[in-house]
Amino acid sequence: MGDANLDADCIFCKIIRGEIPSFKLFEDDKVFAFMDINPVHPGHSLVIPKFHTPNIFEAPPEWAAATVNGVQRLARAVEKTVSPDGINILQANGPGAAQSVFHLHMHVVPRKNGDELPMNWGIRPGDMAEIEALAADIRANLD
Ligand code: AMP
Ligand code: ZN
Repeated sequence: MGDANLDADCIFCKIIRGEIPSFKLFEDDKVFAFMDINPVHPGHSLVIPKFHTPNIFEAPPEWAAATVNGVQRLARAVEKTVSPDGINILQANGPGAAQSVFHLHMHVVPRKNGDELPMNWGIRPGDMAEIEALAADIRANLD
């Protein structure tokens, strides 16, 4: 997989290329999974295709499908690692849906009973040492 499918200026394409750091969970030829650095709850993580496309409308179906396959693999490991009360898979399209990064991404969001999580939660930077430790735990639980 070369860089032909990636965008020079996109922050998530830069993460895929390793130009900016991330807490990587796994990658294959189609997708890249990493920790969200502003987690709603511990274990909040993201899966992105190695193809720069802004949203679900424009994504070629094979890239959308690869992203969902990656989400299933990641969600299973997050479930094992943090034993949340539930997990939401979330994907935003457009500013009206609170999309802030315009490279298709799917959130794996662990939930807690009674957390009353609003759809558009505010961004709160996480504790990087805690995120790094959880990334290692999730990697150990990947099948
Ligand atoms: P959305 O609001 O659906 O576009 O979500 C974008 C997500 O990307 C947010 O949850 C951010 O916390 C996350 N994010 C932005 N930049 C980074 C980064 N450099 N590393 C990890 N997560 C990021
Ligand atoms: Zn991109």
